[in-house]
Amino acid sequence: MRGNRKRDTRPEMAVRRLLHARGLRYRVHYPILAGGKRIRPDIVFTRRKLAVFIDGCFWHSCPQHGNHPKVNTGYWGPKLERNVSRDRTTNEELRGAGWRVLRIWEHVQPEEAAARIAASWREPASSTNGDGGSDVA
Ligand SMILES: [Zn+2]
Repeated sequence: MRGNRKRDTRPEMAVRRLLHARGLRYRVHYPILAGGKRIRPDIVFTRRKLAVFIDGCFWHSCPQHGNHPKVNTGYWGPKLERNVSRDRTTNEELRGAGWRVLRIWEHVQPEEAAARIAASWREPASSTNGDGGSDVA
């Protein structure tokens, strides 16, 4: 399988395969209308209204690996901060539209990521899913 499309990153593909193996059916980059725009989460469970993002450690400033590049801070600093604040806005917009949002760092093992997604998937749609702040390394 070739992952030559930038958004089909390898960790994401592995997670998707595992979800599929668990019998979960999802849409990939399904457009959700929220906050007046289209948001395309990496994995979408339309009926459960569950949106999942697999976030790259660098681009989304993971606390473990997203340590800001020492070089060219003037360029990367603001750029990465913008990403993080955009993520926050996206979460709010999706939640405002009645979706649950699950963000998983790409460094999380695919098995662990799939287990977390499956757990959220099983939860009733009314319960909110924390802020995803706890990471299992
Ligand atoms: Zn990381």
